[in-house]
This record gives sequence, structure tokens and C-alpha cells, in this order.
Amino acid sequence: MHPFDGLTWTHRFAELGPNFFTELPPQGLPDPHWVARSPACAELLGWPAHWADAPQALDAMAGRACWPGMRPLATVYSGHQFGVWAGQLGDGRALWLGEVATPHGPHELQLKGAGLTPYSRRGDGRAVLRSSIREFLCSEAMAALGVPTTRALCITGSALPVMRERVETAAVVTRVAPSFVRFGHFEHFAHHGQPEALRQLADWFIRHHAPECAEAPQPVVALLARVARQTAELMAHWQSLGFCHGVMNTDNMSMLGLTLDYGPFGFMDAFDPGHICNHSDDRGRYAYARQPAVAFWNLHALAQALLPLMPGEPEAAGEQLLDAVEGYRSHFAQAMQQRMGAKLGLAGSDASDQALIDDFLKLMAASRTDFTLSFRRLADAWHTPEPLRDLFIDRDALDAWLARWRQRTTASAQAGMRAVNPAVVLRNHLAEGAIRAAERGDFSETERLLKVLSRPFDEPENPGDAALPPDWASTLEVSCSS
Ligand code: AMP
Ligand code: MG
Ligand code: MG
Repeated sequence: MHPFDGLTWTHRFAELGPNFFTELPPQGLPDPHWVARSPACAELLGWPAHWADAPQALDAMAGRACWPGMRPLATVYSGHQFGVWAGQLGDGRALWLGEVATPHGPHELQLKGAGLTPYSRRGDGRAVLRSSIREFLCSEAMAALGVPTTRALCITGSALPVMRERVETAAVVTRVAPSFVRFGHFEHFAHHGQPEALRQLADWFIRHHAPECAEAPQPVVALLARVARQTAELMAHWQSLGFCHGVMNTDNMSMLGLTLDYGPFGFMDAFDPGHICNHSDDRGRYAYARQPAVAFWNLHALAQALLPLMPGEPEAAGEQLLDAVEGYRSHFAQAMQQRMGAKLGLAGSDASDQALIDDFLKLMAASRTDFTLSFRRLADAWHTPEPLRDLFIDRDALDAWLARWRQRTTASAQAGMRAVNPAVVLRNHLAEGAIRAAERGDFSETERLLKVLSRPFDEPENPGDAALPPDWASTLEVSCSS
């Protein structure tokens, strides 16, 4: 008996019909090996810890064989890239396998890097080991931080050479999410003049993934308002952690408000509001401080795509959709104030809080202090301010700020602050260490980091994981090449 016979697969996306996808088998990795597996993701799926011991597990995750019930397909979407309409994109190297029943509802499984699809354009359908390790570690790290995200179950690798700036090797990441539907799926059918397909997609998405919207007087408006709210919450998570996504194109925006498509992302070390994590983003469209505004822009692109579904006069319909998008502003401000208030350990809320928060960020920016360590050390600053003071150049200014802060917090708030200000995030140089070892065939650092990142609020055993980055970290360049 096949060890995965007991799984229940459904294929709700496939119900949409061939207009929405192309069915095709994966092109598996030759002679694959395991690189990493996430016990937390397996647990989310309700799979036993030893799920990967079966020989069929490696073959399926490397795209060489399908388990009974898997039905691989690549979906079509379009999108705006760097603010410009890019036309048809689609799953150029990702294959949807179906949804598996879990204790938390059905979850889609997707192989990223399993070969060419009709949507590969000039790409090779592959993902390299380097970027697969980054996506795997960051997906699981974000989940442990409490940030909405797609998950990563495992990575398989192979000696198969893949050409990027240098010759690298191929890997496949198995991603998991309740849905991988993007803004770009809706934009695709709107921009290609297919209102029936657009309607079908909206009805399908509401039925399966946003059922409460079906009850609203205008389900499409309710859907947009829901996406705006979830996206606002996501942006507040990102901003409050110093996380930069790097490529916030509309095809990388999740309809469920999940962090999606980890490419040239980065957690900031030295705080700079204008920080650009993606070396290919020369104009800084996706710089840290612009992310909330870009999300708002992207929501407008989604609103535009939903317009053909609205009854009545286009002008009035447009107003309703704009109102729904507009909700983003207040949700973001609220979510941000709540997250930052918790990070600063503020008791209740006060009219002066926004200035207190802004002024701390200004001081951090002026001294280019380490983003993660500034907040983590603030969590100990009631009793021990010295380690925090060490990060700042203008200590008098910091002391003046700390005096204001002491009026708004208490000694007992400090434990709560440690539970929201992580000690460890996936800094570029930590990922780089795991990648360099993995490229030599040693996956132990990837496994070790995964463990550390799964408990980001605990002081790590190895102090280096929570320390200031080494000098060479600032020379690391992360680009779209993946
Ligand atoms: P990204 O900017 O990585 O989110 O990708 C944008 C588009 O390019 C998507 O349609 C991807 O599927 C496609 N793509 C990226 N890399 C590759 C690749 N190596 N092979 C095929 N398609 C790719
Ligand atoms: Mg993408
Ligand atoms: Mg990508």
C-alpha cells in the first residue's frame, strides 16, 4: 500500500476549468536528495513526523512521481510589475498538485522549480538551491513570528546545473497555503476581456475562501474590503519587523493577505527608511518605507480588475470599489499603532503615542541602529538601558526619549515586549551561511537555522544568531535572480 493512500485530495481550483490552467506533469529533478524539511509545516498538515521516510516521498517532492490523488497543473495570471502592466505571466515554474485535507482545512501543495510550463516565457522552469533555501527558511520564520505567509514543507535538491549569474544547482521547494490565488489572477481575466471567466473566478474564490462575503449586499465589494483589511494587517506586520519583500508586483500579492513569493526579500539590519533590499530595484519603488503605499496602489489595480463585475453605472460602481480600498488606510494605521504600541510596551493608548513611536524611529534612523536589536534591547531598557544606548550615537537624545517612554510603560510590560520583539530574524548573512554550507553539500546549518527561527522570541543558544551582523553582511547583494 502507498504510504500516502490515506490522504484526502480535492481539486477545487481545477473545477474552474481549462481557461484557468494547463494540466501537465512535473519535470522532476534527476537523482534527487533531501535538503531540508519543516517539522512545523508537516504538523500543520497533520502528517506524521516520519512522513518523508517513505521512498515515494522524495520522488513526489522532487517532481518525479505523483502520489495517488495529485493532479498537477500550472495556473495563468497576469500583473503589474514595477508599476507597469506586464501582460500574461502565470506559474512559470510552480506546479499546483491539489489540496490535501488537514486539521486546519484544505491546503494547496505546490512544487516550485519543477520544470517548464506554458507560462515559463524565457525562464527555464527551475529554481536554484540558493533561493530555495531563502524561501524555505523565511516562510517558516515568518510563520513562527506570527506573520501571515505561505508555508514551506521541504526542499529537495539535485546536481542538475542551472544557469544564473553563475552555474548553480536545481532545487524544488514544496509550498503550502490555503490558496495561492493572487491579485494577478483577477487582473488576467479583466485585462483580457473575459468578464464571464472573471465572474466565475470571483464566485469561486468567495465560495471557497471568503464565504462571509457571499452574504453582503455587494459580494465583490465585500471581497475587496476584506483583501484591503488583510493586506493592511500584513503591511503592519512587515513594517513592524523591518521586513522588505523586494518585489511587490501585483502578481506577488496574495488574495488571502499572505506573504507570497519570497525572492530578493530582506530583514533590515541598520535602519534606513529608504532601504532597498532588491539590487534589481534601482529606483527604489519597493523600498521599506514605500511598502504600505505600494500595497495601496496594488489594491487599486485589484479594484480596477473587479470593476467589470459591478452592476449599475460604472462611475457609481467605481466609487463603491474605491470606498472599499480606502478602508486600507484606517486599517493600516490602526494595525500599525497596535503593533508598534506592543513593541514599545505602551499601556493602553494615548494621544501622544504616535509621536513617541515616530520619534523612536527617527532616532533609530539618525544612528542607523540595527532594527531588530533596537526593539529587542528596548525590551530590557527599563532595568538595563546600557545595551540599547550602545546602539545610538546621540545618547542624550535617546535618554530624553527614554524619559518620555517611561511615562507610558511599566517594568512589568517588559516580558510582553520580549514576546513581540524577536531576538532572531533571517538576516541575509545568516541565510548566506546556510546557503554556502548547502552548496558544499552540508545541510546542517539550514536545519540548525530552521530550529532557531522557529523560536524567534527566545534568546538563541548561539549568541551570533542574535548579534549585530558582521561587516561583510553589508556587501551581500540580493537580486531577482532566483
Ligand atoms: P517573480 O518575479 O519571481 O515573482 O516571477 C515573475 C514571473 O516570472 C512569474 O510568472 C514566474 O513564474 C516567472 N518566472 C520566474 N522565474 C522563472 C523561471 N526560472 N522559469 C520560468 N518562469 C519563471
Ligand atoms: Mg512571483
Ligand atoms: Mg520569484
